[in-house]
Amino acid sequence: MESIKAPRGVRDILPEESWKWAFVLDVARRTAEDFGYAEVHLPVFEHTELFSRGIGETTDVVEKEMYTFQDRAERSLTLRPEATASMVRSYLEHGMHRGVQPVKLWCAGPMFRYERPQKGRYRQFWQLDVEAIGAADPFVDVEIIALSLELYRRLGLSNLEVKVNSVGCPECRPTYRKTLRSFLEPRLDELCDTCRSRFDRNPLRILDCKNPQCAAIADQAPSVVESLCGECGTHFGLLQRGLEGIGASFSLDKRLVRGLDYYTKTAYEVLSGDLGAQNAVCGGGRYDNLAEVIGGPHVPGVGFAAGIERIVLTMEQQGCFMGSAPRPAVFVVCPDEEARPEAFALLHLLRQSGVAADMDFTGKGMKAQLKVAAGKGALLACILGSEELRASRLAVKDLESGEQHLYAREEGVASIRSLLSNKGISRKDD
Ligand code: AMP
Repeated sequence: MESIKAPRGVRDILPEESWKWAFVLDVARRTAEDFGYAEVHLPVFEHTELFSRGIGETTDVVEKEMYTFQDRAERSLTLRPEATASMVRSYLEHGMHRGVQPVKLWCAGPMFRYERPQKGRYRQFWQLDVEAIGAADPFVDVEIIALSLELYRRLGLSNLEVKVNSVGCPECRPTYRKTLRSFLEPRLDELCDTCRSRFDRNPLRILDCKNPQCAAIADQAPSVVESLCGECGTHFGLLQRGLEGIGASFSLDKRLVRGLDYYTKTAYEVLSGDLGAQNAVCGGGRYDNLAEVIGGPHVPGVGFAAGIERIVLTMEQQGCFMGSAPRPAVFVVCPDEEARPEAFALLHLLRQSGVAADMDFTGKGMKAQLKVAAGKGALLACILGSEELRASRLAVKDLESGEQHLYAREEGVASIRSLLSNKGISRKDD
């Protein structure tokens, strides 16, 4: 029988890599907390309607990429393709709009999209999602962008490009849509099939088409910024002044759009120069009309989502510090079957006293156990066999220097801890 493999486009994050993820997520957690954002855990599936309304019926995500299924009671459910709609759903469902605003939340976890897999693009991928819900102030947009940039700074990422735009609001967007349509109409034949179908439904989406011919036309198109109403223009101006105030370098990109009515004002993206085609390490913006679209009151909001796989890839490419793989400080070596209960008890005592420790469970000989200890990167091997038992002693071998020490058994744990502290290793929970 053929062995079962993981589905196409999903990845196992194995021990060789998972510690790098832990590092990134840990820095993300601390950064979010430093900016006043609290963690939430949200479900990975929701009612399909939340996404079809919350992301928009005419988006690629909703039209082509959702993992939608019926549960046993024939409800249509969907594996979340992103977290913003769930965040706003949760915010409304738990009455957070009645408390102090804005409510600042973050979460991290897997998202699911049926896309063509390639480097940096998967069908299950992780996002860090950060949202500030309940404030219209442009400085919250600045804070959101600043948070993502501070995260990348703490992670040591370089060669990043920040692009910002404003997509206006339902007040001014119809004017822009008209201007854009009159520009595109004479060029309709030169656009790809998808863009031609977007012309009536959602012409703004033509601006971010990846097809080179459409892109060349989009580059010539009038900018949305010129059509902004007073309020959106002021908001965009303050956003840029806020970004300049924190010394962020950014460029305006008139082709950066979100293309749906409930996305308003700010849109931004951070691109990595080291990623190839899938080069966005995060994207975000404002969605002042989203809460209403999913059945709530009018609540402004702004946020971003960052792809963890792409952050890890970029960090590897740039040789950034990513912490280190966990390893045992001590490996308990027990060459004789009869000493196993005592050896295991020693292992347990070490662990209880906060020392990362491990041992062999496959009945290897002394030499092979020492080899495993070195292979796992242990600093000390603590040998407890029949001979040591009889003499009530413990032999401790420093695996870096090769030196060996003998201790009375009852002093074993204290001696090991002092050897480790000489090497700069303190208790894990100190
Ligand atoms: P989006 O929700 O499409 O704005 O995406 C936000 C971020 O999530 C992007 O900037 C990427 O870093 C990441 N991302 C989106 N789609 C994928 C995918 N299929 N695989 C890996 N990362 C992704």
